[in-house]
Order: sequence, then structure tokens, then C-alpha cells
Amino acid sequence: QAAGDMFRRFVRRARAAEPSLNAYVDLAKEEEEDGPTGPVTGLLGGVPLGAKASFCVEGTVSDACSDVLDRYRPPYTATAPARLLESGCRLVGKHNQDEFAMGAANLYSAAGPAVNPHSPGLLDARHKAILTPGGSSGGSAAAVAAGSCLVALGSDTGGSVRLPAAYCGVVGLKPTYGRLSRHGLIAFASSLDTPGVLARCVADAALALDAAAGTDPLDDTTVRQSRIAPEALPTRADIARMLDSPAGQPVSVSSAAAAAPGAFSPALVHARRPTAAGRSAAGPDAPLPEGLRAAIAGKRVGILAECHVAELPEAALRSWQEGARWLEDAGAVVVPVSVPEVRTALPAYYVLAPAEAASNLSRFDGVRYGLRAEGAAPAEGEGDAAGRSTGGLERMYTATRSEGFGPEVQRRILAGNFVLSAEAKSSYYDAAVAARRALRLAMEGLFGQGGVDLVLTPTAPDMPADITAAVKAGQSSGAAVADPLAQYLGDVMTVAANLADLPAVSVPVGMTELSGSGASLPTGLQLMAARQDERTLLHAAAVLE
Ligand code: GLN
Repeated sequence: QAAGDMFRRFVRRARAAEPSLNAYVDLAKEEEEDGPTGPVTGLLGGVPLGAKASFCVEGTVSDACSDVLDRYRPPYTATAPARLLESGCRLVGKHNQDEFAMGAANLYSAAGPAVNPHSPGLLDARHKAILTPGGSSGGSAAAVAAGSCLVALGSDTGGSVRLPAAYCGVVGLKPTYGRLSRHGLIAFASSLDTPGVLARCVADAALALDAAAGTDPLDDTTVRQSRIAPEALPTRADIARMLDSPAGQPVSVSSAAAAAPGAFSPALVHARRPTAAGRSAAGPDAPLPEGLRAAIAGKRVGILAECHVAELPEAALRSWQEGARWLEDAGAVVVPVSVPEVRTALPAYYVLAPAEAASNLSRFDGVRYGLRAEGAAPAEGEGDAAGRSTGGLERMYTATRSEGFGPEVQRRILAGNFVLSAEAKSSYYDAAVAARRALRLAMEGLFGQGGVDLVLTPTAPDMPADITAAVKAGQSSGAAVADPLAQYLGDVMTVAANLADLPAVSVPVGMTELSGSGASLPTGLQLMAARQDERTLLHAAAVLE
């Protein structure tokens, strides 16, 4: 099948879903749909790709959904999307997100809220509720779930790939820090920012990881990769195992999509897991591929006590227990573990991330890119001895930043500058740095000699919130968020992996009924592995999906 046909089909589907999902801020044009029509080649040949608006891609809207960047179109392409495009992927478009990736519900976007394709209000006339897709990579998760792209690039600073993946029922992979280059990803908190992959199944995520990973001279933090054992990445044979491909040959995502066009339903949601108990389309009793069983046998899986928070819904707890049992059935050894340092992860994150953000975002000053607001004219008599205005530039900076940054971004900048200030630094910033160091050491201990190979937790502590009012009002940049601090709690399961540089993945494990409503929503479980051990991580993830 020609690449052009498949690409056109996905672009058409993206367009058709836009009025209800608002997942894209830039979509491929008609002419591009008539692009190359030759046969697809390579494992990722012709695969429809989407990328969060935070990734610079030449000529496309790359504004991190902020008014301060005002639909900026960069003259170059970030390393991660460039590598996927070189591997044969084709860009369907750029995805909606929280402004500068700060948020967990995609409500803080200059482009307005994105919508979860599993919203009962979209799927069933008896329901009204429109739900958040999660954030900050909300548009990416919604697009993959709705089948308008097969692979998407998101970014995960504190959970922004994993949380929306869980809410939308797709796979969300945050690799080890340094595995994927940050070059060309608009910065939020540089020591935590990790490009990640959203896909419909674990094998697709592994293929995309394989194509995008590698040392990049333009991001020195990827230099560590040369010291990473290459066998830590899944191999082609591993990917074949995950797909249970009969010939032992990896099947490319594009050939699967091309061979079975009907497999991607025209409905918004591709229902791969129709029942709560269903492990896969093949049914709950389908035997696990032997190769996968061998890869996971004897691995030790820790059940992290600190994630057993009081707020955890009953259904999430049940999925957690069920997931542990599936891993055990596959031959893994499940053990309870406790890492008290995890309790300080959330507060430490909300000191460190804003501190780094305050510094990174100082470059948006109205001089170099996007928006420039002039501010009020200098008052009479202002100026230096020679009568030259001294306040104009300062005024322009202030006006640009006040107008261009949304309320959440302003909150982070203020918090970040406060924790870095002389009077607060030792009690906030230094304390958070110490907490991060303690957490990293504790995690090293947990995954070290005689410890565990994997940790299993829920991905989200709650169900996706109802955003009907915000969507109806067409509100942008979070005008409708009543309690911004409450949103921070949604990251409680995910931030530890970022602070400790660990690879982590959210895997959809089934549908959970929304209490008594008859509507059901996806549930995700999170796996973490030792630093740089994506291979074990993805094998275990494939057992769960
Ligand atoms: N929700 C978290 C925050 O707002 C995480 C965001 C992210 O991972 N980019 O900071």
C-alpha cells in the first residue's frame, strides 16, 4: 500500500475529530497529503507521527501553546522528531498541550482545552460529560487514542507523557533521562525534561524509542548514552516477542496498519480492550507469548507501599492487584517494597521544577521571538540626565511577559524566583535538592544488588476530571481552573521517576466503570525500572497490555 494513501487516511481522520477533540494546533495541509506515493520502507516507513507543540519542527507551529511564542514556526527540527522522520515517519501535525508543559489537564493552553476521546459525552447520547485527556501532553494522548496518528512525541518532566496516556488508554513511555535528546524541545525544567513516546501498543513505543534514541552532539546530557550498555535498549527480536509475530520477525506498525485498514475503526476510540478483565483483543485467557514469558521469568517486581495513597479509587486498587497477578502468572516474583523518600518527591518536584522554569523562561522577553507588547509610554520627565528614556525596555519586558504568559506559567515563575531568592533558598531550593539526592540514592538501593528489577504502581491517583464547562466556554490558558494546587496532586505517582532519572511507562490495562454511570474509562498502570533498563521495562509492559 502506498504511503500517501495511508497518510491521507490519518490526516482525514484527524480533521474529522478536531471539532470534538481539539488535539492539534497545526495539521498537515492538502498538498502534503499528496506527498510521496511510493511503497513504505523500513519498520517505521510511512507511519503517521504527531508531536507535542513543544518540539521544534521546521515550518510548523512550535509555540508550546503559549501566547508569548505566538504560533512561532522554527527554522529547524528538534533531534527526536528529526530522527523519527528520517526513519520514515510522516508528520500528521503538532499537538495541543499545557502551556510550556506546565499542567496535568491540558486546561492551561492558549489553544483551549483538548478533550479525552473516551469522554462519555462523545460516545453515548445518554451521557453529557466531557473529560480531560490529562496533561501536559494531552493532545498527543487524545490523538493516539483517536487513531489520528500511530506514534506521538510528548515530553515528561513530572508525568506529562504517562498521566495523559493512562487517562486516554494508550501506552506512554518516559525513557531514562538522556536517552532521547532534548535538543529542540522547548525547555521547562532542564534536569527533569524527558522526551517520551505515546503509542497504541508497547511494541510500537519500543520501535519509536529505538529510532529516536542515541547520543546527540547538540545535547550533552545524551553523552551518558555512550556509557549506557546498548543492550539496555529493546532489540528487534524483543520487539517481535512483544508483537508475538509468528515468524519471529518484527512487523512494522505501518505494515500492520496497511494490511488491516479495518483494524483502525472509524470511531473515535479504537477499543482494543472492551472489558475490564480483558488483557488484550485476544481475550483474557489468551496465552502469553513464550518469548515474553522467558524474558520476564524470575524478575523481581516491587509493589511500592508509598503509592497506596488514601485517595486511590477502589477500581485503581483492583487493577493494581490484578496487574501484579498477571506479572506473577508470567513468572515474575512480586514483593512489597517501601521507599520512604518517595513521600518527599512531590514537594521537592514543585520546588525544583518551578526554579528551573523561572530560569529557562527568562529568555522570553519580547526581543527574540513571538509576542512583543510595548507597554505604556514613558511618563513625562522620565529618563536619564540627557533626557533619554531608561524605562522603555523594562516596560516592554514586563508588558510582554504579563500578556504572553498564562496564569499557571506566571505562578511557576513567581514560585521559582521565590525559592531561589536569598532569603528562601536554603529552606526551599537547597532542601529540595537534598531530597532529590536522597531519593536517587534510595532508588539506586532499591534497584541495586539483591533488590528489584521493576516497580509497579498505579499511574494516576484519580479518574480524569470533568471539563465540560471549560470546553463549552472555549476557555484558554486555564481561566476555569478553580484550585490550581489541587491539580499538582495528580503527579504523585509519576514525579519520582523524573527526580531519579528512571525509565517508566504507563500501560493501559483495561476499562473501569465510572461509578454507576454505565460509562467506562481506561485505567493505566505504571512500571519503573532501573536507570537505563528500558529493555526489562518494556518486556514487563508487554505482559500487562
Ligand atoms: N503536571 C506536572 C507539572 O505541571 C508535570 C508536567 C510535565 O511532566 N511536563 O509540572
